[in-house]
Amino acid sequence: MPLRILCFFTAVSLLFTVSVFSCEKTGVYRHVCTDEKKIALTFDDGPHYKYTEQILDILKKYGVKATFFVIGVNAEKYPQKVKRISDEGHEIGNHTYSHLNLRELDEKEIRQELIKGERAIQKITKKKPKLLRPPGGAYSDLVIKASSEMGCDIILWSQDTRDWAHTPADKIVCGIMDNVKGGDIILFHDFVCPDTPTPEALEKIIPKLLKSGYEFVTVSELIGE
Ligand code: ZN
Repeated sequence: MPLRILCFFTAVSLLFTVSVFSCEKTGVYRHVCTDEKKIALTFDDGPHYKYTEQILDILKKYGVKATFFVIGVNAEKYPQKVKRISDEGHEIGNHTYSHLNLRELDEKEIRQELIKGERAIQKITKKKPKLLRPPGGAYSDLVIKASSEMGCDIILWSQDTRDWAHTPADKIVCGIMDNVKGGDIILFHDFVCPDTPTPEALEKIIPKLLKSGYEFVTVSELIGE
């Protein structure tokens, strides 16, 4: 084999080895390997008529950018909230149209959920979402296929605040501070009814993380897109 071709194949196989052993499976991210103190806050299930505003006010107060995975049905119900999220520089990802378990759907149904969710967002923001968070983190090879054909990465999380289980705000704060590391994708929800702990937890955790030197970025910034 000529040396030039041999070098090419060696380079390709080296690249393959590096990509296989990197932190993320291509297109599915739980966190990002980095030495930088960058983290991404994410908020699922919104927008909510009341709590999304509270969350946005807190993020604005500290100049923090985050990522909101909105449900299509809720986006149609509260388009002004979606617009505010987008106008204030946060990223919006697809959390499907009606929040079904994608692992239980066939290929056609998965596509419908993703496309309808995407259209609901795009109609308001005029931007095509690049990220998908499957409800409950439940995905399959069919979901990966549909998502990648739509040009979206699947985003899971490395830290679950368990706000959905009504975890008290102080416990959420301790949990994050004990475990946080650069590259984390942190899971919150726009709302948990009744008495969501999320705004209170955010108001406490953001200044602590800023003081510890963490920088808040959107998920696309974190994964380098
Ligand atoms: Zn959800």
